[in-house]
Amino acid sequence: MFTPNPYSLNSRKVAEATDEWLAKRGVSKTQIGQLVHFLQKDYFPDLSLDECIVHVDAVLSKREVQNAVLTGIQLDVLAEEGKLITPLQEMIKNDEGLYGCDEVLALSIVNVYGSIGFTNFGYIDKLKPGILKKLNEKNGEHTHTFLDDIVGAIAASAASRIAHRKQAEREADTNLPLD
Ligand SMILES: [Mg+2]
Repeated sequence: MFTPNPYSLNSRKVAEATDEWLAKRGVSKTQIGQLVHFLQKDYFPDLSLDECIVHVDAVLSKREVQNAVLTGIQLDVLAEEGKLITPLQEMIKNDEGLYGCDEVLALSIVNVYGSIGFTNFGYIDKLKPGILKKLNEKNGEHTHTFLDDIVGAIAASAASRIAHRKQAEREADTNLPLD
């Protein structure tokens, strides 16, 4: 007798799809790393871009993050194709100012990394350096209503991760008792 395969999640497939879709939507890990460097260079002058990219990879390895990336990109793509229901279609397509679900989804990434992540997310969203500026150019061709916030959140989370790790390293170096 035929028994259908029960649904089982393949974590590797989710991770691969995340990498693949970020690249397809024009975002590289180097560009996210550059945002992280922008956020942390004043605090850690020796911080290299390569080190930033290692932290971006660590953030992207988390399932919560992968889920947010795929959900946001899917909504952007559907909006580009005109396939959403009205009036969601118009709101996402036009990056409507009063539609805040893009930021809320991105906060599910930042949530994993604590308050430094929140501060950095707000800061980078205001300044929109590097790839964030490009994602915000509304040239009519692409919709990046969700992706700009998601990329900012990944960078903010990686920056937070660096801040916490560096502090731990400092404390280990000076042999201060951890309380
Ligand atoms: Mg947005």
